[in-house]
Amino acid sequence: MASDFHSHRPKSAARTLVSCRAEELPYYPLASLELHPWFLPERFEPFSAAFRAAARTAAAIGEAGLDRLRGPSFEVQVQYLDALLELAAAEAKPVVLHCVRAVPELLAAVKRHPGTPCLFHGFRGKPELLEELRRHGFYVSLNPAVLGSMPLFEHLRRTGLDRIGFETDDTAETVEAVLARAAARLSMPPAVLEAVTDCTFEHFLGR
Ligand SMILES: [Zn+2]
Repeated sequence: MASDFHSHRPKSAARTLVSCRAEELPYYPLASLELHPWFLPERFEPFSAAFRAAARTAAAIGEAGLDRLRGPSFEVQVQYLDALLELAAAEAKPVVLHCVRAVPELLAAVKRHPGTPCLFHGFRGKPELLEELRRHGFYVSLNPAVLGSMPLFEHLRRTGLDRIGFETDDTAETVEAVLARAAARLSMPPAVLEAVTDCTFEHFLGR
């Protein structure tokens, strides 16, 4: 069965890590408690007891993270991210991270809370950034928009698929279709890519 590393709703029979609000958690077998930087309050407020309880039952936490183009002040976003990483460490949960133009700050925040499996979702950068993230221990889920990137796929053919996943996020495509396109790019049977990424997904989720 294929694995969709990040979406906001299931789109097929694939195992899908659905990023959702606390009250939606019970509807999905694999739910991730969202705290999207776009929708944070203007000022930091400590997490409610309900949010903390939801974190305990979720399969993962996030998407959360940093975005220089949207959301409240960057300072407030960093405060929330630190609090979230602390909660994730306390509950031993992996974290799904959103990052727009803030890689150094994201790396610094993760470094302050070592030991938590982190997924950099929606990756659409260059091979150098991919390597930097893997070197820092991140799992990296590729944005469907980078499936056409020759340099990135040449890099993956050379360096392998360690810690690499695929996602559908808010696109309409299924992850099976995404994997088929990626497998063609990698000159690999889709079933093999599916098996490799299933394994990575399990590993990220700590199963
Ligand atoms: Zn998303």
